[in-house]
Amino acid sequence: PKPKPRVIYWFRTDLRLHDSPALKAALGLKPECLYPIWTWDPHYVYHARVGPNRWKFLLDCQNDLSKSITKLNSKSKLLLIREAPQTLFPKLFKEWKITHLVFEKDTDAYARERDEKVVELAKKAGVEVIIKTGRTLYDPDELVKQNKGKPTMSITQVQAAGAKIGSIPRPIPSPKSLPDPGTTNLSFVQDKPANNPDINSTQRNAEESSYTGLAGPNNDFSIPTMSELGLKEATTPHRGGESIALKMLASIIANEDYTATFEKPKTAPTAFDPQATTLLSPHLHFGSLSAREFYWRVQDVVTNYKGRASQPPTSLTGQLLFRDMYFGAQAALGYAFGQTYNNPHCRFIPWHLPSTIHPGSGLITGEYQIDDAEAEVFFRRWKEGRTGFPWIDALMRQLRTEGWIHHLGRHAVACFLTRGGCYVDWERGAEVFEEWLIDHEAACNIGNWQWLSCTAFFAQFYRCYSPVAFPLKWDKEGEFVRRYVPELAGFDNKFIYEPWRAPIVDQKRWGCLVRGDGTESAEEDGKVKMYPKPMFDFKERRDVCIRGMKNAYKIGLHGDDPKVLDGSWREL
Ligand code: FAD
Repeated sequence: PKPKPRVIYWFRTDLRLHDSPALKAALGLKPECLYPIWTWDPHYVYHARVGPNRWKFLLDCQNDLSKSITKLNSKSKLLLIREAPQTLFPKLFKEWKITHLVFEKDTDAYARERDEKVVELAKKAGVEVIIKTGRTLYDPDELVKQNKGKPTMSITQVQAAGAKIGSIPRPIPSPKSLPDPGTTNLSFVQDKPANNPDINSTQRNAEESSYTGLAGPNNDFSIPTMSELGLKEATTPHRGGESIALKMLASIIANEDYTATFEKPKTAPTAFDPQATTLLSPHLHFGSLSAREFYWRVQDVVTNYKGRASQPPTSLTGQLLFRDMYFGAQAALGYAFGQTYNNPHCRFIPWHLPSTIHPGSGLITGEYQIDDAEAEVFFRRWKEGRTGFPWIDALMRQLRTEGWIHHLGRHAVACFLTRGGCYVDWERGAEVFEEWLIDHEAACNIGNWQWLSCTAFFAQFYRCYSPVAFPLKWDKEGEFVRRYVPELAGFDNKFIYEPWRAPIVDQKRWGCLVRGDGTESAEEDGKVKMYPKPMFDFKERRDVCIRGMKNAYKIGLHGDDPKVLDGSWREL
């Protein structure tokens, strides 16, 4: 008789037990043993920009998942193995006599490369691989296929392609029990980071010095702590984990009016306690919430709703379609999606501060002489939340400390950095978001930055967000600014978005002087605080940007134009 399957279930983008087509497939094998594992991917640990807040969210998700696994089988838990999958798997297959490897499909550019390698190694070892889609409403590759092989660049395209694929699968319930893991002996040693071609020498040294063995410092496959990782404490109030995600979803769904009539453009970016949208994005990122579970729970409320429900794209289910749209665009374009260079769908704009470094292309940081130094200052002040525009600074400070800001807040800061103020490359901004967001999702971050910078998806560059008029529409009292820029807490409503206009006597009276660039010590004679002057005249800069955009649109180059690739666009 055929031996019973011995299965590794490889958790990656799916830190949950509910609605997991891959987990269902693994359990369908009726395995003799099931090893739930997470591998230490040096790409995530060293290459990706991951700030402490997102690390913490990940560890929360892992801890919660591990507990849930143990609840279903007291002998089991999430096994953290500290080695790159590309070197770990061949050894693990042999040691644990594995017959099957099962995981959720991931269409991110790097993940595809990694997974191809792993599949090849499994084949060599005679291990069968099962891969299932479960991260998005539709399989991004299917979306692309049904969109005539092209990246999905609009919601209409997603809807049309989706209709051809068929209905979005209904969620699968969580399993009621889990098989035992087999013995977890590891007689082999951790591949030295020196053998890992994926990391550079500094990272290698860091990895060697923090070497704790394959199964962690206590040899028990434990989930690391922030201190084991050498990370600063997280400052975000938002917690990860499937249990929390499902509770959050349940409370949203319980509010039928909110769920059925949700209209994104009507949600306030200045609301913070509570925020105006669901804040489920980090859970969707780590898979502690399934997108299909979210979709169907909402759709069922909408279907039974007595009043007038909102419609995609502004409705809640419409929001999930945007997510699928960006996944489809990324699935089609791969690495090129994340940059201007060689990206046929991204407009080329000669930003002051291009981030892309491509030898020979002319897109080399530092080559631009004019305005570079000034733009670098704009960029730093934007990043550090000291532009002198309280609305922008409040958002950037909320982003840095909490890791999440409202969608329209993201609009405001992204427009301001690129085509609506600083004229800095969207790639620079996307890098900051990558580091600080707890919900950072490569496809969504890149796609939205392209949208806001009018380099793809959206083209109405003459429509800019004013850092004064826009927040005023939502929050006349400036509560949001008072919360995140406490220096200005005492200012009169009239000046909350333009504190530099307040008379000096009032500034003194309200406990904060508007001067300098935000680098001076915050306190003067121990009492009066300081807040920077605006770093430029917004209207003037907006006009400069619009002129630049008009010109770039007229020339009409995209990232894959030979003139962009060889740098000769400068002669135009
Ligand atoms: P809700 O309004 O409650 O929406 C529900 C879900 O729909 C979200 O959780 C999210 O998964 C999805 N969604 C909503 N809007 C969008 C959108 N425009 N694009 C893609 N998915 C969407 N979202 C990310 O998940 N990760 C990112 O890295 C990211 N970077 C962004 C960068 C910029 C410059 C901008 C303008 C937007 C970015 N977004 C990103 C999209 C959006 O801002 C967030 O998804 C949303 O604010 C998350 O909050 P929420 O869960 O309360 O959203």
